[in-house]
Amino acid sequence: MFARSRRNLANLFALSMGSILIVFAAIGYYLRVEDELQKFDVFLFGQSKKIAENAQRLLYLQQLQMGEVDISALTNALPMSSELSYIRWYNVNQQLILFYSNNKAVSRTLTSAPGYQTLQINSNDQQGKSNTEWIRELTIKVAHNNTLIGYLQIAAPLTTVRSTVDRARFFLALGVPVTLGVIGITGWFLGGLAMQPTRRAYEQLQRFTADASHELRAPVAAVLSNAQVALIPPFDESELRFRLENIVDVAKSMSNLIANLLLLSRHEGNLDASGLKNINLVELVANISNNYQEQATSQNLIFTSQLPEEAITIKAEPDLLKQAIVNLLSNAFKYTPANGSVKLRVLVQSRQAVIQVEDSGIGIPEQDLPNIFERFYRVDTVRSRQTGGFGLGLAIAQQIVQAHQGKITVNSLVGQGSIFQIELPLM
Ligand code: ADP
Repeated sequence: MFARSRRNLANLFALSMGSILIVFAAIGYYLRVEDELQKFDVFLFGQSKKIAENAQRLLYLQQLQMGEVDISALTNALPMSSELSYIRWYNVNQQLILFYSNNKAVSRTLTSAPGYQTLQINSNDQQGKSNTEWIRELTIKVAHNNTLIGYLQIAAPLTTVRSTVDRARFFLALGVPVTLGVIGITGWFLGGLAMQPTRRAYEQLQRFTADASHELRAPVAAVLSNAQVALIPPFDESELRFRLENIVDVAKSMSNLIANLLLLSRHEGNLDASGLKNINLVELVANISNNYQEQATSQNLIFTSQLPEEAITIKAEPDLLKQAIVNLLSNAFKYTPANGSVKLRVLVQSRQAVIQVEDSGIGIPEQDLPNIFERFYRVDTVRSRQTGGFGLGLAIAQQIVQAHQGKITVNSLVGQGSIFQIELPLM
């Protein structure tokens, strides 16, 4: 599944980047050709201007000397340049009167309108091999004393332009596939990177689902076996009651597990700031502390709370925050033997509201400390199961604290006790 998604991502990336590359390469190529052609046109125009000016000067001299102009006298005045393919002079009636060319096939009348055009010329060399040559032709009107005296047509081979364009094409033909290959490899690499968080989230979800199903299997089996025994006749009133009580206990524990799972799934990520209330943390913790006095007495534990006199205001979702503190406190009560002590403190430390739950209980082995906030993680599975724990209490507490942009930490020593600390930003 992930390999396919990665491939799709890589293909999409290569396709989009490749299309952009090809469009840019085509635009670049077009601009290069245009630029070369423009330079060539400037050269051609310069040549035609020079020739036209030369002719105009000669005709002016002729008029001065003879009183009239004779265009045929221009024969010697239009020197053929080696850079040009031909020079043609047409009279006002567009009839050819003069031409210099290596190409014998010359049109007797002017066929093209003034301006530039690109032409393909086929010719045979000395060995009789046919050659195709591209030329650029320019036709201009030439006037003398504001009177049209004819048309000048010159042309030059596009050899230099073609070699530059050919070089550009060669570079593109080589560069574009190589760049496409690099884009493909980059796409594959980026696809892998992009898939990483999804893959991690998927694996986490799979583990979570497997753990949750595993945890639910045992109580469901217990409900089933108790119900099956209760159904076997003859019905004994006390046995039936015992089985039903078992079913109620197991169902309660299952409902607790499901409530916890729902809580975990609902409160992922930061809490919406608009839903948070300004609460007095001292008051909230005092209420929790009161609720635990009775349990402390029944468990024979010394339970004390140290709360500041003045209020500490924080932004929080009170029910969720209460749940996080209760989870820590109920663990402290669960894992502290009789005659031990549990302390609940609230204080302010470097612009943070701090809640500490300290116990003198069994403590947590060092190697388990990095894992205890993971879902379904239990240090001592047997003991935890006896106390009704699913290994979700700390995961829920951590998720709630992180959703409040806070931090939860632990310090613990086996046989001596643990201190859990929640830090929350002050208002
Ligand atoms: P559980 O519901 O099993 O208590 P938690 O997520 O609350 O699950 O705790 C995870 C594990 O961390 C527990 O199984 C327990 O072994 C250990 N633990 C948590 N709090 C304490 C504590 N105060 N003292 C000793 N061990 C603790």
